[in-house]
Amino acid sequence: MFNGILIEKDERGYRAGCQSLDETQLPAGNVQVNVDYSTLNYKDGLAITGKGPVVRSFPMVPGIDLAGVVAHSEGAEFKPGDSVLLNGWGVGEKHWGGLAQKARLNGDWLIPLPAGLTSRQAMAIGTAGYTEMLAVIALEKNGVTPDQGKVLVTGANGGLGNFAVAFLARSGFQVEASTGRREEAEHLHRLGAASVIDRGLLSAPGRPLAKEQWAGAIDCVGSHTLANVCAGLQYQGTVAACGLAQGMDLPASVAPFILRGITLAGVDSVMRPLSDRLEAWRRIAALVDEDLLAGISQEIGLGEVVATAARLMDGQIRGRVIVDVNR
Ligand code: NDP
Repeated sequence: MFNGILIEKDERGYRAGCQSLDETQLPAGNVQVNVDYSTLNYKDGLAITGKGPVVRSFPMVPGIDLAGVVAHSEGAEFKPGDSVLLNGWGVGEKHWGGLAQKARLNGDWLIPLPAGLTSRQAMAIGTAGYTEMLAVIALEKNGVTPDQGKVLVTGANGGLGNFAVAFLARSGFQVEASTGRREEAEHLHRLGAASVIDRGLLSAPGRPLAKEQWAGAIDCVGSHTLANVCAGLQYQGTVAACGLAQGMDLPASVAPFILRGITLAGVDSVMRPLSDRLEAWRRIAALVDEDLLAGISQEIGLGEVVATAARLMDGQIRGRVIVDVNR
């Protein structure tokens, strides 16, 4: 038996709770992992509260991220005792996920825990940090370099945005952070932002072309904000689009694309091939330290997950939530 969060949906309604589960209930997979830590992402919050259609089959153990140690393996890639990490692949949505003491998974979804990181640190980073490193790499692959000028981060005080600011600053870029929480400006400066602007400057409908302000941008917000970012990019600038906090729409003009040659680079973390994951995590391990992670994360136990998910959905949580699944 092991403990895990179980989401059920039936004639009694949609509900999530911490339960004692039987190993025989675990889904099929060729690697079994004893989970050390998981995390609470926005997507996990949607799944646990039922506020978004994240879960595709019931009952489901949520948790799109996990880090732990291999207990059994039928594949050649991993052996018992190996420390492993998983982000995405539909785990916690279609296949039982990380918010439990045990998980049975497809070995192709796992990567070795990056050298230099503990499993707890990997979960402080989680999908949020991994996605933002993919975004930094997307800017670099499109030719954005620190000498070209400022790089903008929108939704800077969100889980993704904090990592975007820190990773860009630690990679030598001059970062401008856009936020609706001006009272958190000092926190953004500590993460490495050179300047902080009010998100209201970007969130309303704007002109097709605006003053050229940024060599690049990482956008966590979408909608009018992303359209205004496109309009304000310098000639041949790139924006990496990774979120939709303002909306899924993109009410933009082709003008910045055909007159300034800008690039809109999409960033998906869920189905990303192995080689991209390994590159992103190698870069992350070289950039982070305990100071950075301690400043943006808090830890809870499995029994606190459901209540914390509700607070996350109400916007009451800043930064990352690490879950110790063994307490
Ligand atoms: P958070 O809720 O932690 O942060 C989102 C931030 O966006 C907020 O903190 C706020 O920033 C800003 N924001 C929220 N609402 C609005 C609004 N109406 N107008 C303008 N800005 C707004 O979410 P995450 O950082 O965890 O995720 C950000 C987005 O990225 C989500 O849409 C998520 O689904 C997506 N995502 C995408 C992934 C991928 O693979 N591409 C992976 C993981 C997440 P501030 O407080 O600074 O104003």
